[in-house]
Amino acid sequence: MTYTLKAAHLYGDLMNTYGDIGNILAMRYYAQAVDATIDIDLISLDDAFDPDKYDFVLFGGGQDYEQTIVSKDLQTKKAPLTEYIENGGPFLAICGGFQMLGHYYIGADGEKIAGIGALDHYTLSQDHNRFIGNITIENEETGQTYYGFENHNGTTFLGNGERPLGKVVQGNGNNGQDATEGVIYKNTFGSYFHGPILARNEALAKRILKLSLLRKYPDGNFDALDKLTEDLTKNVVVKP
Ligand code: GLN
Repeated sequence: MTYTLKAAHLYGDLMNTYGDIGNILAMRYYAQAVDATIDIDLISLDDAFDPDKYDFVLFGGGQDYEQTIVSKDLQTKKAPLTEYIENGGPFLAICGGFQMLGHYYIGADGEKIAGIGALDHYTLSQDHNRFIGNITIENEETGQTYYGFENHNGTTFLGNGERPLGKVVQGNGNNGQDATEGVIYKNTFGSYFHGPILARNEALAKRILKLSLLRKYPDGNFDALDKLTEDLTKNVVVKP
């Protein structure tokens, strides 16, 4: 392989609901088209996170119980993770992982679970309710439509410097009120989408893969990715 990206799967042994690691596997699949591959390190409790070592970070979703365990350890990685994000490191955070990049998440039983405040959002709890079902959003910069499945108690409200990943077309999204879904901040993408999101959304997978490759290999030629016409996903809108 000509190009190799190094990915960190944050707490992949605790926060991998719905097989969120499939996001990296989808990127690795498309990477073959440009003679690239992705190596994956599991970074979990008590492991150090080196912000200079990684070209991509995945932080998946989880149950409130796992989130309380991860929350404590995460504080020890707050500085290097924030540095990585601020330096424009490509990052994908799903559901619980998305919540924990923000200030806090109030769990279903009312417990305040600390995030790291690397991004400015916060997440409240719904009263005996979850948002569960198919979801469709539109990304305003590209006009692309993304499809997924959401299952969350938390309601997230974006803050300074954050723009949504998309506008909700069908489903609930961040909070069921302001029609936002997910977040983009620098090269960090957050979303409530399971599926996993990059396995279901070829265009987004290629977008995040390309920016990861170009950040590490600024002189590389990755145009073959844009010419790939194979759409494995064949998404259609599924009514709830
Ligand atoms: N436990 C969080 C919530 O219910 C996140 C869920 C998830 O990651 N699927 O909101």
